[in-house]
Amino acid sequence: MILTIEDEKDVRRLIRRSLEALGHEVIEAVDAKEGQQLLVQKRPDLVLLDLGLPDQDGQAVIRAIREWNEVPIIVLSARDQEMEKVEALENGADDYLTKPFSAMELSARIGVALRHAARRAGVTQQVLQAEDLTLDLESRRVVLAGNDIHLTPIEYRLLATLMRHQGKVLTHSQLIREIWGRHAPDGGQGLRIHTQHLREKLFDNPLSPRFIFTEPGIGYRFRAAD
Ligand code: CA
Repeated sequence: MILTIEDEKDVRRLIRRSLEALGHEVIEAVDAKEGQQLLVQKRPDLVLLDLGLPDQDGQAVIRAIREWNEVPIIVLSARDQEMEKVEALENGADDYLTKPFSAMELSARIGVALRHAARRAGVTQQVLQAEDLTLDLESRRVVLAGNDIHLTPIEYRLLATLMRHQGKVLTHSQLIREIWGRHAPDGGQGLRIHTQHLREKLFDNPLSPRFIFTEPGIGYRFRAAD
């Protein structure tokens, strides 16, 4: 069951039509108050949350939900609101969709978020895999097309973090925190350089990536699991 919290009727209708066609049950709220009530009462599997709600700031809604609930949240945001998207991800949203979005994008993002939530609930994987790339978290071995890839400790942590969250966008500061702890030694300038080196070692062309996708102004996303 998917909960849509959105005050625009047309957007709600598009979401309902697309998701019901895929066999999802959809429930709807027109403001934050109703949304939070339905979340408590119905326990949906995923929340689609508009950031511009009439009664409460969407960011505050995310923080309120995250105080007690791990449900995947995908925010619906207007174009050119990179700061809003970054803030939403840092507050605990799982992903975002930029309006106007297509039914295909919607179902793809929902699929990723649901799979990710299922993995989070299950056992932790020891070997992460994407196409012909594998990363063994125990032996710290990275193999691409049968060949060992030698990574620096920073590159290894960067790749492990990205692969643990396949399909999910990670903001620059989320990555920096995962790799260096609270603060990056150089204020995060190095992240771009390390990503570039990692891409070179994975033969991953940023212009047509197989593995690491740039989300301009936001961060990076590893390819979604098949
Ligand atoms: Ca709105």
